[in-house]
Amino acid sequence: MTKQHIETLAVSYGFEIDETGSSNPPLYLSNAYKFNDAKHAKDLFDLKAPGYIYTRLNNPTNNFLEERINALEGGAGTLVTASGHSAEFMTICALAETGDEIISSNALYGGTFNMFSHSLRRLGIKVKFADVSNPAEFENLVTDKTKAIFVESISNPGCEIPDFEQLSKIAKKHKIPFIVDNTCMTPYLFKPKDFGADIIIHSTTKFLSGHAAVMGGSVTDCGTFDWTSGRFPSFCNPDPSYHNIVYAKDFAQNAFIVKLRTQVLRDIGACQSPFNSYLTLQGIQTLHVRMDRHLENTLKLIDYLKNNPKIAWVKYPLVEGNPFKQTAEKYFKKGCGSLFSFGLKGGYEAGKKLIENVTLCLHATNLGDVRTIVTHPASTTHSQLTKEEKQKTAIGDDLIRISVGIENIDDIIADLEKALI
Ligand SMILES: *Cc1c(COP(=O)(O)O)cnc(C)c1O
Repeated sequence: MTKQHIETLAVSYGFEIDETGSSNPPLYLSNAYKFNDAKHAKDLFDLKAPGYIYTRLNNPTNNFLEERINALEGGAGTLVTASGHSAEFMTICALAETGDEIISSNALYGGTFNMFSHSLRRLGIKVKFADVSNPAEFENLVTDKTKAIFVESISNPGCEIPDFEQLSKIAKKHKIPFIVDNTCMTPYLFKPKDFGADIIIHSTTKFLSGHAAVMGGSVTDCGTFDWTSGRFPSFCNPDPSYHNIVYAKDFAQNAFIVKLRTQVLRDIGACQSPFNSYLTLQGIQTLHVRMDRHLENTLKLIDYLKNNPKIAWVKYPLVEGNPFKQTAEKYFKKGCGSLFSFGLKGGYEAGKKLIENVTLCLHATNLGDVRTIVTHPASTTHSQLTKEEKQKTAIGDDLIRISVGIENIDDIIADLEKALI
């Protein structure tokens, strides 16, 4: 069969209709699995036979979702996790130990920035931040302790975009895996593997599940990184915590996901609930249709905002004058997603009024939902920051963040029009 398109993969990849004839992948709410006999159990534990042991490690419904996301990203293997944060944290844990370093873009989701600058530091893993638009700065930070280069495909909420080809070249030159958090683009809009990513992370909480019902995360290994190239002895030496397996030798192409599952997920335990996997599979089936509408609404809304006298600025890569316009046009052929920010001439008070006066748009902290979501960080999530800290995070008093939903665009505009002062 010819290679299927992403829309077709999103609808049905990885599930073959079984003897029941049911059209949907089943929800297996089981935490344990009967072993056939002693040898079968031993083979499963030794990773010599495929199958299920315990849901902390794997589950058939979780596997359906893993296969689906893996197909969409074109990976060699995928693991689903309890949340986007656990996907990031476990990925770092599989790569780095006390004394090691990560180089990260400075344009990050706030929660990731916190994890990287505080919690990882407490474990002795130092994250060095580089200017997202300056690849040379990333390269200058490389040492023999560097275990990963980390970026978001488009940052939340600043819409900054890294130069993927340049960064992947630097990563390859120094034999460092290149990690891309693709949450805000989704594989429908952007395939990080095509531009040199080795590992792709998602918060499936957002667009992939799409309906704000469940939490989840995923890690995809593109199968492109050579773990024997020198920086990763933990992949090349026997793992005494798991039958002395040697990940890079015993599981050549899938070494990273096997280590992530059998060592890190086993010990940290942040497995995805099969129920959440089931709902995320439902969501993924309409990913492409939703994303097309998210984009169409976003462009129409930006048009409205640009021509509104109460709006000071709109920060979206495709808007004239945006510093990331060229990068966006190079990498993001379909569009730049539906999360962006804009500024109100009325400043802090106008921002506060807007989130209090909208009725269709939801005032909540989430993105990638079918509903339009607005936030005013200065009076809510970032209100405890000092003026200097707000400046550093580029969160001004006038900034509204919006995740444009798939409602009728005229209704979204009417709701904002009513709430703008
Ligand atoms: C939300 C988000 C995360 C964290 O995911 P959770 O599912 O909330 O744990 C990580 N990265 C990005 C870009 C996000 O938007």
